[in-house]
Amino acid sequence: MDWNTPVTDLPGVGAARARALARLGIATAGDLLTHYPRDYEDRTLVSAISQAPGDRPVCIHALVADPPRLSRIRKGLELVKVRAVDGGGQLELTFFNQAYVKDALRPGISYVFYGVAEGTGSRRRMTNPVFEPEGAARFTGRIMPVYPLTAGLSNNLLAGLVGRALEGCGDQVEEILPPGLRREQSLASARFALQNIHFPEDAEALAAAKRRLTFQEFFLFSLGLALLRRRRDDQTGRVLSPAPLSDFLSLLPFAPTGAQRRAMERSAADMVSGKPMNRLVQGDVGSGKTAVAAHAAWLAVKNGCQAAMMAPTEILAQQHFRTLSDLLAPAGVRVALLTGSLRAAEKRTIQTALLAGEIDLLVGTHALLTAGVEFRDLALVITDEQHRFGVDQRSALAAKGTTPHVLVMSATPIPRTLALILYGDLEVSVLDELPPGRTPVETYLVGEDKRERMLGFVRSQVREGRQAYIVCPMVEEGEEETTASLKAATAYADDLQSRVFPDLKVGLVHGRMKPKEKQAVMAAFAAGQLHILVSTTVIEVGVDVPNASLIIIENADRFGLSQLHQLRGRVGRGKHRSYCVLVSDSRNPDTRQRLRALCSTTDGFQIAEEDLKLRGPGDFFGSRQHGLPQLRVASFVDDMALLTQAQDAARALLETDPALEQPEHRPLLDQVRLLFHGGAERLN
Ligand code: ADP
Ligand code: MG
Repeated sequence: MDWNTPVTDLPGVGAARARALARLGIATAGDLLTHYPRDYEDRTLVSAISQAPGDRPVCIHALVADPPRLSRIRKGLELVKVRAVDGGGQLELTFFNQAYVKDALRPGISYVFYGVAEGTGSRRRMTNPVFEPEGAARFTGRIMPVYPLTAGLSNNLLAGLVGRALEGCGDQVEEILPPGLRREQSLASARFALQNIHFPEDAEALAAAKRRLTFQEFFLFSLGLALLRRRRDDQTGRVLSPAPLSDFLSLLPFAPTGAQRRAMERSAADMVSGKPMNRLVQGDVGSGKTAVAAHAAWLAVKNGCQAAMMAPTEILAQQHFRTLSDLLAPAGVRVALLTGSLRAAEKRTIQTALLAGEIDLLVGTHALLTAGVEFRDLALVITDEQHRFGVDQRSALAAKGTTPHVLVMSATPIPRTLALILYGDLEVSVLDELPPGRTPVETYLVGEDKRERMLGFVRSQVREGRQAYIVCPMVEEGEEETTASLKAATAYADDLQSRVFPDLKVGLVHGRMKPKEKQAVMAAFAAGQLHILVSTTVIEVGVDVPNASLIIIENADRFGLSQLHQLRGRVGRGKHRSYCVLVSDSRNPDTRQRLRALCSTTDGFQIAEEDLKLRGPGDFFGSRQHGLPQLRVASFVDDMALLTQAQDAARALLETDPALEQPEHRPLLDQVRLLFHGGAERLN
């Protein structure tokens, strides 16, 4: 057996199990070995019946005293009861719906039972224990791995398969960390780590295994990012000539914040430097990222070049198009909009003009990436809400120019620590200052019992001339929108219109509508023709209607904190006092704590830290969307200290061998390439 041996070669894996394994991404023995446990259960504590703590699971060695009794209580409920004894006590065992136990346990034989021995003294009860014959030591008496599972696979089955793979080819694991580094960092060997991450000898061995694998992940991660960065440093970018910032500022209807001004200055400096710009502008919702983008585009166009700006939705592209044309047209910048919903003839007109250089700034959705879209001279690529785009899409757009400057904008308030790591290949500008005059959005958490009052509040806001969003998470963009959930959102809006607010105008926008229809509704809301907009999460990103002062979020518990914060950012964008009402009847204490955290702060970074703690970094990016490798063992929350060490070690190694060319570093380079799969060619 080797790492490439298909799982179907393992005993007990037929077609059905192979399919289930495939759902976990497991096709080979090697995949099994890198399917790490998500948790562990310590089953090492052994106790006599009479000494067992009644609140914690333990292993009890006991002899089955009489034949198990099977009884059917009613349809669908079978009980097996059996008595087991040790020197000083008696254990009454009950198994629910596990009729096979009747034959599996034989009187006169000793077993190990793992479970909670309820009660006190020498007569105890145990329900649904794990058991195996004494001496087997497969599922009891050890630290058991707990694997991520899928339907049709039990943890024991998976543990068994991993055990087989370890015996068969665990020793073939390649030691990719140089011996010197392992010594320096006191890291366990690859073989030891692999064995003990699955079946730890004891707690200490588990810690050593985790430490080794965590370090390795961070180390490869750091190497990969450093190589990416170095590659770019070797490139030459378009050299633009500087232009006075004040010329641009005179186009703005407001004075920039200090943070905006700094971001503009920095990006301008990038673009005149001779190196390609790669800058992330990170700013909380409403911090004014668009103006920073507009300035960069303006500078490119001043230099006689073209710029492109890509937004994740039609609604956003529309909005940027309007804002940017209003702002830049007076300076002679010709702005055009390209989205998927344009007619073929309209698209052709734009494509021709673009190639002829008659369009200076093209705003659009990922329609910009299509083959026919060619620029005469693309020098700047801007992507908005970049977490919606993968690295691949970003580079696809960049490929339409020759090493154009790249500006990415994100409203996802990534904790600073994380941003520096994840975007280690980018420069970061943080807009940490909101435009003046904003008052923080007041946020409330309410239950169903407050619904009438809440609707009354909607009415009073509308009476004052304001508008309101109501978000229902029933129909979610990108998800399978079931007809039932669609109906629910539609029915909700209908009910609101006909029964609650017959005298007001209620609109509905959801992910299943055609782009044109969506735009029409959004435009009507922006123009103040609708008082209330019922929506799914399609309004989540970027939409800017300053007159909206109230957002109600139904079933708020279904959203992540960062997402809620994004939604809340739809209000409080104008001079009006604004409100966010989170509706939830959830009693889950964690959920309530999460929602209350949102009520107590409007600082996106603080919320992001909280979210990171609660849910991990995956949620900031969606799986693999960022195109960076996923961490399997390491955690950006718990292992920050080790991360710094790994980064330092990576830097030190690259100083001695900048391209990892030495033969002993070859396995490292291979691993880095493998990890940064999509971007492998960028690492060559
Ligand atoms: P975001 O960072 O969320 O993309 P926008 O660029 O959409 O923010 O800006 C939010 C709102 O704030 C817009 O209406 C914009 O015109 C306004 N704005 C941006 N910068 C300033 C500023 N310095 N002073 C006043 N208003 C500003
Ligand atoms: Mg924006």
